Amino acid sequence: MKIHILTLFPEVFESFLSHSIMKRAIARKRVSILIHNLRDYTHDKHRTCDDRPFGGGPGMLMKPEPIFEAMKKLFGRRKPRFLYPSAQGIQFDQKKAAEIACLKEFVILCGHYEGVDQRVIDEFVTDELSIGDYVLTGGELPAMVITDAVVRLIKGVLGNEASKEFESFSRNLLEYPQYTRPADYRGRKVPSVLLSGNHKAIEEWKESQALSRTRRQRPDLLKKVKHASHD
Ligand code: SAM
Repeated sequence: MKIHILTLFPEVFESFLSHSIMKRAIARKRVSILIHNLRDYTHDKHRTCDDRPFGGGPGMLMKPEPIFEAMKKLFGRRKPRFLYPSAQGIQFDQKKAAEIACLKEFVILCGHYEGVDQRVIDEFVTDELSIGDYVLTGGELPAMVITDAVVRLIKGVLGNEASKEFESFSRNLLEYPQYTRPADYRGRKVPSVLLSGNHKAIEEWKESQALSRTRRQRPDLLKKVKHASHD
């Protein structure tokens, strides 16, 4: 998979790409992540990428030219899948992450200021995605969120492929509670069933815990399970 990230702040990605799962996925050549500085596609002394909005209003907007130029230089006449993280987008979720994880190549544009000129959206954007109902300063964090959620779904990226199977949202259920050693920490004991060695009882416990946790914390997910079973 090849991910192209268009940004005004390339340095922000350095730490993200050089640790943990992301570092390993890159080293194992499961993914290449190319960070493109939009200022490299400007022609003035100040490498200007923003301007005031027509019709007035607060703040600045990202200009179309650097983005159009970057796309032409990088892709010619090709039109790759193009994600734009935006508070106005549809909700990015695990299902969307799984869909994107099947792509060979895509672009993520990090917005800034008050956002981008609408003509960029009209020309290139295939998916406008929100990571939640709040407004962030820029699209760099959402781009990292999307990249992380997608890359860990690529085959061979996680050490243990089975760990994806029961993760929260993969079945519209939250994950069950988990414990590691010591079995008794300051009087807080690990549920005895987990120490019993009875695999059937352990599986039943995990399933019932996942259900009760979902019912308590995300009852909306259970509705999705019901709908899916009626489809
Ligand atoms: N004026 C915009 C609005 O009212 O929707 C907010 C712009 S925000 C300050 C700047 C950039 O941050 C956006 O262009 C977008 O790329 C990113 N952004 C902010 N909140 C986001 C969210 N919840 N999900 C995804 N991207 C977000």
